[in-house]
Formats: sequence, structure tokens, C-alpha cells
Amino acid sequence: MYKRDYYEILNLSRNADGEQIKKSYRKLAMEYHPDRNPGDKEAEEKFKEAAEAYEVLKESQKREIYDRFGHEGLEGRGFTGFKGFEDIFSSFGDIFEDFFGFGNNKGRRSRARQGKSLRYDLEVTLEEAFLGKEDEISFQRLEACHTCNGSGSSPGAEPMVCPTCQGRGQVIRSQGFFQISTACSACHGQGEIISDPCKDCRGGGEIRVEKNINVKIPPGVDTGSQLRLRGEGESGEDGGPPGDLFVVIHVKEHDFFAREEDNLICQIPVSFVQAALGDRIVIPVLGEEGGHELEIPHGTQPSEIIRVPGKGMSSIRGHRRRGDLYVKVNVKIPKKLSQKQRDLLQAFAEAEGVTPSSKRAKVRDFLKKMAQ
Ligand SMILES: [Zn+2]
Ligand SMILES: [Zn+2]
Repeated sequence: MYKRDYYEILNLSRNADGEQIKKSYRKLAMEYHPDRNPGDKEAEEKFKEAAEAYEVLKESQKREIYDRFGHEGLEGRGFTGFKGFEDIFSSFGDIFEDFFGFGNNKGRRSRARQGKSLRYDLEVTLEEAFLGKEDEISFQRLEACHTCNGSGSSPGAEPMVCPTCQGRGQVIRSQGFFQISTACSACHGQGEIISDPCKDCRGGGEIRVEKNINVKIPPGVDTGSQLRLRGEGESGEDGGPPGDLFVVIHVKEHDFFAREEDNLICQIPVSFVQAALGDRIVIPVLGEEGGHELEIPHGTQPSEIIRVPGKGMSSIRGHRRRGDLYVKVNVKIPKKLSQKQRDLLQAFAEAEGVTPSSKRAKVRDFLKKMAQ
């Protein structure tokens, strides 16, 4: 593969000094940085090319080999350039940090990270889900320690510069001819070590605290509805934003109403006489103290369903009207009859022209016919 001259890539003369090389590389890296050129393949190539040129020219040993033997000279000694962005950033991380304005003067790498989000499961009754409610919930979360402001060091004590990496957060490891820098394991890349840990958090910088928060549950929530409370999760690390708190709703089963999205379903027992003659009965309805008067039309059949519009569940989408209520009529046949009821039913049967015994005789005739 054809490779451009490293000096040409960085727009330098062959006798440029270290400072000029760095300055020139910074300028190009800024211009072609992937954050500024998302999805731009050409910028990506230029960025990688500049990184490779800089990697070689900044080190006198590699530069000398390149000056004398060119690209082949380096390849012959195992130099392959960078595999990708990851590689470039882990090698020149410090350069990017100071010109993109993050990181700090101790040379430690920025680790700003968003705090963890938390989940809280909240059980509500169907009535509460219908009306909505305000509830105080209490939960535990990790927060930056108030005593040391999350630093982990005893107040007044300064963290110690890590002796292993001298505060760089990175250590250089030799691999054959080349050197690779990796995060320092003694300080986990932080560049500093806590010498006098804070008593309250034992140096961790975080404490577990009990938190009480008011939660507004809107009308119409259902099992699985989630309320997101921004910033109420655990605190972020190194200046990162806090996580969120997700309140997950569970609606308890109701003795009388079942729910299907915004509709409610219930069953009411009705005597066979009420079903036959029709009646007006009062049934419970959510949000109405006195209940609702329901008309059972005469001739209502067992398991018939009567729809009551607008008496179902409130809708979580506030602009939508309430759902409907579906009343399933459960016609009850009496198991015990008084003598008077028996006589009346007997008379009713005769009026209908059907007596239980004559019906039995009809069945007998029918079966006889079938057998012939
Ligand atoms: Zn502390
Ligand atoms: Zn270290």
C-alpha cells in the first residue's frame, strides 16, 4: 500500500523540532477529529494518518529509523501503525484531553460518568390508579459523601500523587521495540492515591443514604407504567450527571373490577326473575360514591353483557375520555324454593304449556325415535 511521507502529512520540514511536530499534529487532529466529522471517511483516514505520522516523528528512535530507511525500515521492525481510534486515544489521550478542555492539570484522564439509574416498584390500588395520587416513597441510593465531597480524602488532606505512574494515570509498557501505554493499575488510571481516607465513606467517596421523595402518580396508570424522575438516581462519577429513578407501577387486583386497558369489566348477580322482568339496580362505579343505576332490560339472557359508556378507567393519556364499563349479567337460578315459590313456578310452567313431567315425556319420545 502506498504511504505518504510523514513530514508531508504533518506539513513539516525534515528538520522540524519536537515542539513543531506536536503543534502540527494537534492542528490536524483537531481538524479531523471524529467527534467533529461524524461519518466522514476521508476525515477518518486523515486523522489516522496524522496519528501514525506523529507516533513515529515524536520519538527520536523511530524518527531516526524512518529518516534513514523510510516506511520499510519501520515495518521491518514490526511497526504497524494504529488499528483504530481506540488505539489512538489510548496512546495520545493526554493530548486530546488538554486541547478539548477536559481532564485536569495532573494529567489524569477524565472519567466523568453518569450515575446509575434506580428502579422502585410501587403498588397501588385500582382506586388510586383511577384517581391518581401523590405518594412519598423512600429508598436508598449512593450519593457523593458530604464530608469529603466525594473525593474520598479526609477533609484537609490532599490525595497523594500516584508513585507508580507519577500522576499520569498511564504506565508505559515495552513490547518488543515499541512502547504501549495502559491505565495504571495502582491508581486505576486516576493518577492519585488517597493517603488519608475520609472516615465517613472509608475513602470510597460515596455513602448510602435513605431518600424520601414525593411521587405524583397520574390518573390512569396501569401495571408496568413507569414514571421517570430525572436526576434522582445515584450520583455521577467525577462530575458526571446523576442517574434517574424509575418508579414502576403495579396495580393490585380488585375484588369487583377487572381491567382491560381503559375498560373495566365486572359481574353482577341477577335473579332469573329480574332478568326476565327487567329491573333497575345500583352497581358500584369508580369515582362515584353513590354508585350508578343500571337498567337490566327485560328478557336479559344469562352471561349477557351490558355496556356502560364512560364508566371505565381514567385514561393515562389525559385527553382521552374514560373507558367503558362492561357488566356481565350472572343470572342466578335458586337452589332452594319455598313451597309458595314452588307453587308459583308450577303455575308459571303450566301457563307456558310446559310442565317438567311433560318435558321429560317429550325427551323419552325423542330418544325412542332415535333408537328406531
Ligand atoms: Zn467521604
Ligand atoms: Zn498510578
